[in-house]
Amino acid sequence: KVKKNVSRKVKFKVKKKVSRKVKPKVKKKVSRKVKSKVKNDIEKELIFKTRPEWIKAALVNKTKYQKKYSDSIKNNNEFWKKEGKRITWIKPYKKIKNVKYSKTDVKIKWYEDGTLNASSNCIDRHLKDKKDKTAIIWVGDNPNDTRKISYKQLHSEVSKAANGLKKLGIKKGDRVTIYLTMIPELAITMLACARIGAIHSIIFGGFLAESISGRINDCESEYIITSDEGVRGGKIIPLKINVDEALINCPNVKKCIVIKRTGNYINWVDGRDVWYEDLIKDVSNKCEPEEMNAEDPLFILYTSGSTGKPKGVLHTTGGYMVYASMTHQYIFNYKPRDVYWCTADIGWVTGHSYIIYGPLANGATTIMHEGVPNYPDWSRWWQIIDKYKVNIFYTAPTAIRSIMREGDKYVKKTSRKSLKLLGTVGEPINPEAWLWYYKTVGNSKCPIVDTWWQTETGGILISPQTGAINLKPGSATKPFYGIKPSIIDKNGKEIKGAGEGRLCISQSWPGQMRTVYGDHQRFIDTYFSQFDGKYFTGDGAKRDKDGYYWITGRVDDVIIVSGHNLGTAEIESAFVAHEKVAESAVVGYPHDIKGNGLYCYVTLNVGEEPNGELERDLKLWVRKQIGPLATPDIIHFSPGLPKTRSGKIMRRILRKIAANEHDQLGDTSTLADPSVVQSLVDNRKNI
Ligand code: ATP
Ligand code: MG
Repeated sequence: KVKKNVSRKVKFKVKKKVSRKVKPKVKKKVSRKVKSKVKNDIEKELIFKTRPEWIKAALVNKTKYQKKYSDSIKNNNEFWKKEGKRITWIKPYKKIKNVKYSKTDVKIKWYEDGTLNASSNCIDRHLKDKKDKTAIIWVGDNPNDTRKISYKQLHSEVSKAANGLKKLGIKKGDRVTIYLTMIPELAITMLACARIGAIHSIIFGGFLAESISGRINDCESEYIITSDEGVRGGKIIPLKINVDEALINCPNVKKCIVIKRTGNYINWVDGRDVWYEDLIKDVSNKCEPEEMNAEDPLFILYTSGSTGKPKGVLHTTGGYMVYASMTHQYIFNYKPRDVYWCTADIGWVTGHSYIIYGPLANGATTIMHEGVPNYPDWSRWWQIIDKYKVNIFYTAPTAIRSIMREGDKYVKKTSRKSLKLLGTVGEPINPEAWLWYYKTVGNSKCPIVDTWWQTETGGILISPQTGAINLKPGSATKPFYGIKPSIIDKNGKEIKGAGEGRLCISQSWPGQMRTVYGDHQRFIDTYFSQFDGKYFTGDGAKRDKDGYYWITGRVDDVIIVSGHNLGTAEIESAFVAHEKVAESAVVGYPHDIKGNGLYCYVTLNVGEEPNGELERDLKLWVRKQIGPLATPDIIHFSPGLPKTRSGKIMRRILRKIAANEHDQLGDTSTLADPSVVQSLVDNRKNI
């Protein structure tokens, strides 16, 4: 007995010793290897060729894409005439496009003599063969809360909501503000508005009173739909309190419809406030959809506010539905049995086009998640993917970077084997984050679609189609059908072939915004006054020798160092490629010799500490990757960066802090966490 005991002890000791010594060594080696590989890959402009299995799974291959694309440009009218038929029209269109783009006059009309209803395109037309198919899988903040809504149930719920809204006197053309978190009633009430022809204006549930009243007054909305409270990441969001405060400054609001989410006590204004459950109690579950003209407004939505005061973007019905449905099908390679999940909030355009209108028009099963990626813990999203066998997953680089910062372990705990395709939107994705998404989340088997578009564009304009276009991490690759991008140099001349400049779109597409609500002049000034006959996106882009597009960042963010243009995206990507860096934002500041110096904000991975050595390392690292011109002048380590509520870095604020002008920050109403700004100001580095 004694002998045995001893031997067991000894063995155990030996094992422990060995494993402790060996393990970290191996780990270090591997990580260094991977790192250098990533770096080399980026240097070589890594290309992921479409694989045979991607081509097999895709809707189009290279030849088909090229033919269809060139056809869509050459025979634009014919192309959209045919594609418009993917939508169910009440009265079919005869006219296709009626567009005028000039510096002083802009008019955009598509399918202008056709009539249709958006909600019936998302619901009624599927009742014949898909009535029991799940339309929406609602996944609550609490993992135990979940609900599946079939197309038939959706039809009944939307019709009841529509009848309820009608009962209050809401009619075609009225603007209805919806301020909710991601609960099923958000989808239901937006579709109910569309059903009766009311124009919805959805405000992200994270906004506070001032932003709500500003948007209500801007679009002269007389109705608001909200809930008692919202739930997100285990926390309560006091929606009704925010609305009550906002409505003090909105004298024209007649009714406030309140949905019960938590059931907690709320303040009540008699005569103005109405419970949603009372409104839909005794109404019919049938509501004839309103016949809308293709050019009747469908919704107003405010931009994220990254570059200034948000703009009230107006989208109309026919062209938008055609474009949202078509891009959803082709870019995500959507097939009828797929479970599709876009993690955006419906308060942003991504949620409008790619949680609701696009997927539902295509009869898809779409997931709506109430919560956040790190609640109850950082594995949440991957658990949802496994639980519902998600095939297509669409998210934002900011989310990818924040998850990556926590390390791989939360992802690796799950299988994610149902995934077939991954997508990103919102900002340029750094190649490092792209590769991590590809390898760790997608198990190196799913293609990634990096989709470039804007609130204004209604749907995706530049993106790979995975059976047709080889992937290059960091590039949104090639234009979608009917989209004709142009790159304009600093003298206003169009660049043919490879080159870098301002990104414009040279001809209209059906999903394009029609105006800034109530301010057509602002629409012309913002997007059309710069380059005659072109829509100016506000973004910079590079076209490479293969015709691929690389978004270099906002034009306003381009930094001119010693006479050379440096895009923020490239320098930031170089930082993120360093193994200790999670995120970075780079801005220029006046510099006596170079014109502009580079002030670089850097957030480190969890567990890393800033120090002088790392600062020197990082300067060398970036210099080595891009060149001496891009050597950072100042590195400011910061645990957080100012972001919009949709997660985009607000460089205009960082520029003000770097220049010591933090008393002139501009519109900060869309800032997610204002306290970040104060801590950046307090720790500002002298220049
Ligand atoms: P505002 O117009 O109020 O400043 P915003 O431009 O952030 O706000 P959105 O419409 O939400 O409002 O964002 C569109 C912008 O997001 C694009 O112009 C582009 O700068 C950026 N963007 C979106 N997708 C991508 C992508 N895949 N790659 C690079 N940039 C992207
Ligand atoms: Mg914008």
